[in-house]
Amino acid sequence: MTLQPLVIACPQCGSTDVFYSCEPKCCFNHVCSNCRTTFEPFTTRVGEVTEDFAVPPELEPTAPAAPCARCGEARVFAIAGNPDAPRQYVCAACRALLTLELGEIAPG
Ligand SMILES: [Zn+2]
Ligand SMILES: [Zn+2]
Repeated sequence: MTLQPLVIACPQCGSTDVFYSCEPKCCFNHVCSNCRTTFEPFTTRVGEVTEDFAVPPELEPTAPAAPCARCGEARVFAIAGNPDAPRQYVCAACRALLTLELGEIAPG
């Protein structure tokens, strides 16, 4: 299994030029560079990962991030795979299998 850094598209304009404007100990507010919409990604646990995976290297603090629904760690990565399949995500800290959604959407 291969993991990739999160790519999050703006829920308002679809741009992936989105950055994480806060820090995990505070909140997960993200801002779209294109239209200034703000939102917070969140995850839902849908299972457990048993396959081995390599954790991608440390990212910029402004790279998109989301909290794990189970352990709260901001070490959630996307599973690389079939681009047509629904995206699934993995917490590298506790191996929860997750889906990712966006909440707290405030159009810019
Ligand atoms: Zn936008
Ligand atoms: Zn976790």
